[in-house]
Amino acid sequence: SKERPGTSFHFFSEEMDIRSYESIKLENDLYRAIEKEELFIHYQPQIDYRNNEIVGVEALLRWKHPEYGLIPPDRFIPLAEETGLIVQIGDWVLRRACQQLKKWHDEGFALPRLSVNLSVHQFEQTDLFGSIKKILNETGLDPSFLELELTENLIVKNTELTLETMKQLKEYGIKIAIDDFGTGYSSLGYLRNLPISKLKIDKSFVDQMLVDDAAITNTIITLAKNLNLEVIAEGVETKEQADYLLEQDCVLMQGYYFSRPLDAETLTNKYV
Ligand code: C2E
Ligand code: CA
Ligand code: CA
Ligand code: CA
Repeated sequence: SKERPGTSFHFFSEEMDIRSYESIKLENDLYRAIEKEELFIHYQPQIDYRNNEIVGVEALLRWKHPEYGLIPPDRFIPLAEETGLIVQIGDWVLRRACQQLKKWHDEGFALPRLSVNLSVHQFEQTDLFGSIKKILNETGLDPSFLELELTENLIVKNTELTLETMKQLKEYGIKIAIDDFGTGYSSLGYLRNLPISKLKIDKSFVDQMLVDDAAITNTIITLAKNLNLEVIAEGVETKEQADYLLEQDCVLMQGYYFSRPLDAETLTNKYV
């Protein structure tokens, strides 16, 4: 309180110490996670439901902590973003996933698309276009196979720099999808001016679609069509949802109904 600043500060600072100890520990551990090979990637199939063919995979990062076990990305990615480590980690994910796709291609598995999630911090803190170009050159993967998933929030905050980088990426042949579409606080006006090629319908709308109503999914599908964008639904868990989406002309889908995210080897065995 105002009367006893010393006391309240002391109390506050004890709490802070505990919290920062935990985050400092996790942060240190995360810093070492790359070299200790605790990070790995799972790949979730993206399906064209018209013929049930796999048309792409989304790379999803995993961290197996030596004491705490598997830590979900929703917990450690925000930490990596706060500390700036996301730049290094994001680079690692891109390189590793591109290497994997190249390997699949070399083995004769002609998977046409790799989607990789990008954090806003990767735009703010590095020469993103330069590092992506370097990774593609090093792995020998054609840019047209790569798709980057950006959330709406990134785009809302879009600075001149973000937009410039997005344009460079597009000119280079890389595709950009808007992830979790419909959950951000953006106006639709921005869609026309952005170099994007796909909308990804958020899982929450797919969940709602057959329970509550389908107004939002239907609207996004129509919007994508009118703007000449591809559209994919995420979090598809049932045949009913898949059938309904197909009826509405959304043919690309991703979700547990088709497959959970898999390690590269399991995915190879399942689809090759
Ligand atoms: P996201 O990009 O929206 O990824 C989709 C999440 O939904 C994944 O969770 C996936 O495993 C899960 N999912 C897919 N299909 C279904 C389904 O049918 N039902 C249910 N209940 N869930 C489904 P995951 O792998 O835990 O990733 C969570 C979030 O962490 C991702 O959300 C993404 O925002 C972030 N993330 C993951 N990997 C990376 C990365 O390499 N870089 C960055 N910046 N973020 C990442
Ligand atoms: Ca995603
Ligand atoms: Ca998503
Ligand atoms: Ca999400």
